[in-house]
Amino acid sequence: MLDGLIRWARRKSPWILHFNTGGCNGCDIELLDALTPRFDVERLGILQKATPRHADVLVCAGPVTRQARDRLLRIYEQMPEPKWVVAIGSCACSGGVFRGCYNVLGGIDQVIPVDMYVPGCPTKPEAIIDGLVKLLEGI
Ligand code: SF4
Repeated sequence: MLDGLIRWARRKSPWILHFNTGGCNGCDIELLDALTPRFDVERLGILQKATPRHADVLVCAGPVTRQARDRLLRIYEQMPEPKWVVAIGSCACSGGVFRGCYNVLGGIDQVIPVDMYVPGCPTKPEAIIDGLVKLLEGI
């Protein structure tokens, strides 16, 4: 019963942290749009946090550059367990238009495990919210 209660609480309060690993900012703008009162994601308990230590879900946009790799790893390691990662945008899913560049390692899953992929260039706010809701349904 206690496990069920903890799972219910996790589903109802997914605090997210947003990190751009090297994209063009298009997906970041769409994510920030998704967090505005227009879409009212707080009704789902989704709240943006400023520190990895308070976050349950890491939302990443952009391909992983060599420069961002260590920062991404450090942020992921600072998040408490259990934690989930969502890749938004084609770049975060696979490298997208930056795939093959000399300074790009590829998608987020080249560095840390990814639980949900939300493709698009850029990803629409509705798709981002849909991806987060599907992630929550799996918790
Ligand atoms: S998927 Fe498109 S909009 Fe998003 S970071 Fe990559 S190039 Fe920019």
